[in-house]
Amino acid sequence: MIQANDKMSGDARRRAYLNALGIDVWVPRGGDAAADTDEAEEASLAQPVAADWDGLRSQVAKCTLCSLHKSRTQTVFGVGSQSADWMIVGEAPGAEEDRRGEPFVGRAGKLLDEMLRAVGLQRNAVFIANILKCRPPNNRDPLVEEASSCRAYLERQIELAAPKLILAVGRVAAQHLLGSDAPVGRLRGQKHYLNAGQLPVVVTYHPAYLLRSPTQKRKVWQDLCVARQIMQRSDQ
Ligand code: URA
Repeated sequence: MIQANDKMSGDARRRAYLNALGIDVWVPRGGDAAADTDEAEEASLAQPVAADWDGLRSQVAKCTLCSLHKSRTQTVFGVGSQSADWMIVGEAPGAEEDRRGEPFVGRAGKLLDEMLRAVGLQRNAVFIANILKCRPPNNRDPLVEEASSCRAYLERQIELAAPKLILAVGRVAAQHLLGSDAPVGRLRGQKHYLNAGQLPVVVTYHPAYLLRSPTQKRKVWQDLCVARQIMQRSDQ
């Protein structure tokens, strides 16, 4: 446990906390975003990330680390088995998810459910989460500082669920999880790991993209088969 040191700057202390959690520190850009990040620093110092599911859920529900709390209807924590072997990570809640408080409940969500069923998985057998717990206005991409503020929550969800595999759906999830700026088309079909090589990450297209480009479903099927193979091997 990192002890707060009066001589450390706020920034240094925040970095020390995040380091202790094994979380990369992303450097914010300037302008309003910097002001939001300052607020986030103060708030995150006041309250380290909760250690259990109930604490984490209520911490997320009250979160004001970034400005998205001002426009959300509610936070979208994640759903499914808290000891799932598969964890699905998407981008951020959309309008329907923001209304219902559950990830992937719109059209893309229905398609995600079908993708999972194709490899023999029910929705409630996996854990589904997003990079962001709050909806970005007009469904814009998450900003770096938003993803940075939210990252400790996802890290803790991964730690608590201890999945055997993460399926990253879409560019935003894949890039943020893997710290890459490569397109999904390059990231899929490669081997990726988190947690010092302990946790495989399979990248595939986002179901919302598949709704627009159904011919890519074949590639998603290939990615799902790779994920299933990894899981089968880990069970041997
Ligand atoms: N898209 C996502 O990435 N996540 C959701 O929860 C819904 C749509």
